[in-house]
Amino acid sequence: MSCFYPEPFSAGTEFESSDEVIIALSPGNRVLLAGERLPHAAELPVGEKRRLRIGRIDDAVCTVLDAESSEPDAPFRRVEIREALTVLDEPEQIALCRARTLTFWRHNRRYCGCCGHELVDRAEECARSCPACGAVFYPQIAPAVITAITDERGRLLLAHNSRFREGVYSLIAGFVESGESMESAVRREIREEVGLEVKEIRYAGSQSWPYPNSLMIGFTAKYAGGEIRPDGVEITDARFCTPSDMPDIPSPGSIARKLIDQWLKQQQETQKG
Ligand SMILES: [Zn+2]
Repeated sequence: MSCFYPEPFSAGTEFESSDEVIIALSPGNRVLLAGERLPHAAELPVGEKRRLRIGRIDDAVCTVLDAESSEPDAPFRRVEIREALTVLDEPEQIALCRARTLTFWRHNRRYCGCCGHELVDRAEECARSCPACGAVFYPQIAPAVITAITDERGRLLLAHNSRFREGVYSLIAGFVESGESMESAVRREIREEVGLEVKEIRYAGSQSWPYPNSLMIGFTAKYAGGEIRPDGVEITDARFCTPSDMPDIPSPGSIARKLIDQWLKQQQETQKG
């Protein structure tokens, strides 16, 4: 089975193989696809263009290229990263998320936070270091929790976030704060955003969310008490829903949608059984 192997990043123009996998990122979080996969150097000549090597898929080197945003010719197409993640296989998904996260980080980590000197890439590990004072900086991942909460009747809590498009509802999510466990973060976020208490918190999968550097960790939990009180800032409305009275939900490709779909499937099976 194919696998993605991360490597320390290195910038350059010459990489050895024609099966080099090219991750061509363009503004607006878009990436170039060849049909339903990432293109290879043999079909997308990149010549002397500067690229960032970030790892391998099996023996094929993966590089990131800053691309223009003009419309490509068939069979290539430019799609949003989020959409690409719904069609790529797992090693390519990992490569794409890593490409998005690392290029953003590297662009924003240009100077030393201790002395202000310009940083350089380290050859032996995925990091940048300061030639003047020796400080080393590593890319950071920001963990965030997202929870599918059901009540005693099996209904799912869906909430409208003020940042969402009008009418779209999703699950309660938020970043893990320093010092917290993931379970503590689940309980706190739900209490803060909708005023509910939960129990039976169970891990339900995770997903890289490279905008710019999150790891979404999914949970299920059961309602344990309280009345729904949206905080009015982040969450403007929330309610327990049945499959027949669902508002609009996030499009496929997010862990939110995956958890909602899993709940829908369970509800259908319960009805059949
Ligand atoms: Zn320094």
